[in-house]
Amino acid sequence: MRLIRDEMGKRERRYSKTKERRQEKAMTGEEALKSRLVEIGRRIDALGLTIGAGGNISARRGEAMFIKRKGAHLGSAGARDYVKVDILSGRCSSRRFEPSSESYFHLACYGKRKDIGAVIHTHPVFINALGISDIPLERLTYESLVSIGTSVARIAYIRPGTRRLASSVEKAVRDHNAIILKNHGLIAVGADPGEAMARTMAAERAALSYVCAKVMGRTSFIPGKEVLHFICSAGE
Ligand SMILES: [Zn+2]
Repeated sequence: MRLIRDEMGKRERRYSKTKERRQEKAMTGEEALKSRLVEIGRRIDALGLTIGAGGNISARRGEAMFIKRKGAHLGSAGARDYVKVDILSGRCSSRRFEPSSESYFHLACYGKRKDIGAVIHTHPVFINALGISDIPLERLTYESLVSIGTSVARIAYIRPGTRRLASSVEKAVRDHNAIILKNHGLIAVGADPGEAMARTMAAERAALSYVCAKVMGRTSFIPGKEVLHFICSAGE
């Protein structure tokens, strides 16, 4: 009897240790993801891609996303400023903070494509110059072609923070990794925060190159047949 009790006790201790280890691992994963978001947020701020509380970033973990809270500045946000939101229900697990007012389109991106692991929304100056002038960002530079793909979607101005904007983003993100929100900014998606950030930078650098070329008087585009070649050889 005593032997059985000892054995059961051992098993119970082993089980709770495994459970503890699993919980610890899950926490470490969440903390690591939040710390990556903190780092990317500070880079965005340092590069001047947003100002003040503008812009918002998020990353997926399992069935939830971690997103910047409402009112936090990307440049000074710490791990506690990223809140957990269930992707299916949109419910935020924080009692203290509300998620960014642009949560709707972040949720729409994750809901639409399973390969999306991060969403970055910024207000880059040169992307906005293109958006305001209604100039498409495609076939401008090899860098943007490789990083983002052959085209960047454009959405007419829709009031920020609305479900209407989220619904337009949902349609556009189906076939695009970057979306220009006219008179507002840019949304870039990626498998992880690093890829979404690289796409943000590639888009802004292509827009800057275009604006500089325009100032100098002449612009040109990557020939259509070269784009075709790029599409055909992609994945080789
Ligand atoms: Zn915005």
